[in-house]
Amino acid sequence: MDEEQFKKWLTAGSIAKRALEEGAKTIRPGVKVLDVCEKVESIIVELGGKPAFPCNLSINSEAAHYSPKIGDDKVIPEGAIVKLDLGAQVDGYLSDTAVTVVLDDKYAKLAEASREALEVAIKTVRPGVSISDVGRAIERVIKSYGYRPIRNLGGHMLRRYELHAGVFVPNVGERVPGRFARDQVFAIEPFSTDGLGEVVEGKEVTIYSLRNPSVKGLTEEEKKVLEAVKSRFTTLPFSERWLKDLAPPDELRRVLASLTRKGALRDYPILMEVKGGMVSQFEHTIVVVDGGVVITTGDVVVK
Ligand code: MN
Ligand code: MN
Repeated sequence: MDEEQFKKWLTAGSIAKRALEEGAKTIRPGVKVLDVCEKVESIIVELGGKPAFPCNLSINSEAAHYSPKIGDDKVIPEGAIVKLDLGAQVDGYLSDTAVTVVLDDKYAKLAEASREALEVAIKTVRPGVSISDVGRAIERVIKSYGYRPIRNLGGHMLRRYELHAGVFVPNVGERVPGRFARDQVFAIEPFSTDGLGEVVEGKEVTIYSLRNPSVKGLTEEEKKVLEAVKSRFTTLPFSERWLKDLAPPDELRRVLASLTRKGALRDYPILMEVKGGMVSQFEHTIVVVDGGVVITTGDVVVK
């Protein structure tokens, strides 16, 4: 990685850090999920980036992948545990970061379990360390708080224009191949729960990405939407909100569902804790450097 590339990873990280801090301050009971997400996405743009993926705001036993829809009137409830997960891209260089905001003190310990797991996990990473060691560290910290890590969610490598670039970083002490190497970029993201420690896909879909741009047998309208997806988002995940100029919401949703059925798009259903457990998450993006890491998304301070 040359100096210019390194700087772009850092810029993508610092933009997301700022957006996350500002966004977390707006999370209160009665606030619309759509308003939080539109705010953080506009901060990312004001700071010179673009969203790397739609802002996720997942509440209580929703672990991930809820992004508000067009005209979404969902409101943050009282006493909730809220995960805000967002990222920025600068010329395809990406960041991915998340914070948990608790609206009831009874969830403070659950949030702290994921926060400390992230801190400990990041300290274990340097060139040559086994990827399995991170999962072991995360599991140990979360269990020391009396909770379970979510075993089918985890961190991931990032590459330019590639948010999930193949390598998976587990949140439990399972054996996985591979060691960290200099110049690699990873997102580390522990999830803790008082449930079973597993997520399942829910019915709702609010996030999509391009899967196969050359699928045959599309209608003219499907072709139009797919062209817009390719040119606006390339391979990165997107929200229906970012295509609302193309068709009325119901029609747009029909086209997106049909493009998914035909294999042109991939969808990311909402992920729910299987036993309805409450879920916390913290996430940072790191670049592996000699002797350790640089955290591109910095230390998130929420006051
Ligand atoms: Mn991630
Ligand atoms: Mn994330």
